[in-house]
Amino acid sequence: MHASDIENELTEVLYTKQQVDDRLAAVAAQIDADYAGKEVLCIGVLNGAVMVMADLTRHMKSHLQMDWMAISSYGAGTKSSGVVRILKDLSADIEGRDVLIVEDIIDTGLTLAYLVQNLRSRKPASLEIMTMFRKPDALKSDVDVRYVGFDLPDEFVVGFGLDYAGRYRNLTDVGTLAPHVYS
Ligand code: 5GP
Repeated sequence: MHASDIENELTEVLYTKQQVDDRLAAVAAQIDADYAGKEVLCIGVLNGAVMVMADLTRHMKSHLQMDWMAISSYGAGTKSSGVVRILKDLSADIEGRDVLIVEDIIDTGLTLAYLVQNLRSRKPASLEIMTMFRKPDALKSDVDVRYVGFDLPDEFVVGFGLDYAGRYRNLTDVGTLAPHVYS
C-alpha cells in the first residue's frame, strides 16, 4: 500500500518509500563497516520491526543472522509503562554473540530499557541498538542508541511497520493520520 492509495486517511507524508530506503542503505553501510570481520546477530522486535529488519539486512553486504522477540508493554494510553512481558523469546542463546537490536521506533525508551537489561543478562559479547525512528522523549532515556534512521517530531506516525489499531503496517511510506481515522 502506498500513500497515494489512502490519500484521504493521511494528513502528511513525512518520509516516502524512497527516502526510507535511501536512509536504510546508508545505515546498513555504517553497520557493515562497524562490524567488519564479525557476524552480527540482528534481533528484531515483533511486530513493528519486521519491515526495518527485512530492508536493512538486505542492504547489508556482510553475513549476519536474525532472531526475533515479541514483547508486550503494559500500560494505559499511548505511552508505554516500561513493564514488559515476553510473548516470544529468542530461539537461540546469545552468549558471546555480537547483538544488534533492530527496532521500529523509540518513544519513551522504556520498552527498550527493559529489553537491553534482559539481553545484557544473557552475556552477549556486545549489544547495540538500531532504530528506524526516534521520538524527542527518547533523548531523555539513558539507553544509548547507536544507529538512528530518522528523528521524528512528537507525533503519532504510521507506515513502514508502524500500525494504528493493527492497520497501516503495510504502508510503504511514513505519515501522520487524518483525525477522522481515530476520532
Ligand atoms: P516506548 O517504550 O519507547 O515509549 O514505546 C515504543 C513503542 O510504542 C513502539 O514499539 C511502538 O509500538 C509504539 N509507538 C511509539 N510511538 C509510535 C508512533 O508514532 N506510531 C506508532 N504506530 N507506534 C508508536
